[in-house]
Amino acid sequence: MLQRLFGGSPSRLGTPRYHKRFRRPPRLSRGWRLALLCLFLAAAAEVFIHRRQYTVRQPDIELDEPFYTSCQEPKVDAPRENAALVMLARNKELDKALKTVQSIERHFNRWFKYPIVFMNDEPWSEEFITTMNASTSGEARFEVIPRDEWTFPEWMDVDATKESIAAQGRAGILYAGMETYHHMCRFYSGTFYNLKALQQYKWYWRIEPDVDFYCAITYDPFVEMAKHDKVYGFTISLPEEPRTCPTLFREMSDWKEEHDIRTTELWKAMVAPSWAPWPLRGWLSWFSQRDRHGDGWSMCHYWSNFEIANLEFFRGRQYQDMYKYLESTGKFYTERWGDAAVHSIALAMLLDSEKVHHFEDFGYRHDWYYQCPANAPGGQLPGSKALSENHSSEPERPGGIGCRCECDGSRTRNYGGYCLNKLKQPNTAKHLSAWQWFLSWYW
Ligand code: GDP
Ligand code: MN
Repeated sequence: MLQRLFGGSPSRLGTPRYHKRFRRPPRLSRGWRLALLCLFLAAAAEVFIHRRQYTVRQPDIELDEPFYTSCQEPKVDAPRENAALVMLARNKELDKALKTVQSIERHFNRWFKYPIVFMNDEPWSEEFITTMNASTSGEARFEVIPRDEWTFPEWMDVDATKESIAAQGRAGILYAGMETYHHMCRFYSGTFYNLKALQQYKWYWRIEPDVDFYCAITYDPFVEMAKHDKVYGFTISLPEEPRTCPTLFREMSDWKEEHDIRTTELWKAMVAPSWAPWPLRGWLSWFSQRDRHGDGWSMCHYWSNFEIANLEFFRGRQYQDMYKYLESTGKFYTERWGDAAVHSIALAMLLDSEKVHHFEDFGYRHDWYYQCPANAPGGQLPGSKALSENHSSEPERPGGIGCRCECDGSRTRNYGGYCLNKLKQPNTAKHLSAWQWFLSWYW
């Protein structure tokens, strides 16, 4: 083994050939060594100072707590907010869409009866309409998205764009080979908010086919969002697939600088500051997922298939200006920017962190990711008539905040823990140890 490592038999170790190969480098003079040490220390200090600008200032008190931490008797007669549940779907997704509607009706809407607006880029089938009308307790509306909002922007070269989409598909980028998926992401990033059918509402709750709600939601989240002056609510946060959006963070951070937008604590939480010293750091800006100074995006975002949010924020001038800029780059098509990433980076740029609410008391699943709280001890309202159909065989656990959750609250909550911890940092007084941060990657 040793022989193989040193490239010869021990008898040859003393030969001139060995000396030639392993000659010691010339010794640096004292002055040079001192200069190098100083350079290293200066670089380390520069990195330290630079990264400190991105240290998230954590508050002394919790800035975002669950609205309730136990079952409530649903206030069926209380005033409602001006809000709607919204679902984009295709006719062929009827079964999965129905599953979602049944789940949200059973766990929430049978008490609150908010309207559901179904949106489609094609006319709805009779079957979809009849089935949903029979399954919703509030009004069901069936909207068709205007054609020109579900196609390429008119200034784009359609053939070249289609070729780019095909190339992204060949490169194996998640969903990027599907033209309709690009339209969908662009729609949910911007045009959705200007849809005529939604102009009358102030709040929306986005749902998708194939979603489960696991806990009873016994209070009105729209009312609580309004009462606590929140803008955006989420359940799950996770890292974005980097190949879908190489230059999204660069474009958005450039827009932020050009418009002199101050850096919020949430923005700091989004950023992964560089470990490279100036001027090396600047050169990193040539790489993807980095701003013009070479700092990166953590890739963390709120998963947008669940959103409860204020439409006025997204219809507002700042968000719309920013969206128009993103749109003008054409990269909803030449890359595959997702609406979740666009929303999240925009929120971090334009909002104070306490405007964002984590619905950690909701049990929620989509695809293979889920969040599931344990049941709140002593908070299950065993005698409640309204809740009599919401059974849970799960035990109550100390620290539990769920209401009659039908999932195992002792197991996984959320996707990994890193992004959740990172994006919640500006809203919580809890400090995590380095070990906890490390573990959160594997949680
Ligand atoms: P994922 O959650 O990122 O895997 O994407 P999905 O395939 O679930 O799509 C997200 C949402 O957009 C779902 O509500 C889909 O029903 C909807 N959607 C995606 N593509 C289309 C489409 O071409 N037409 C319509 N009407 N809805 C779509
Ligand atoms: Mn989906």
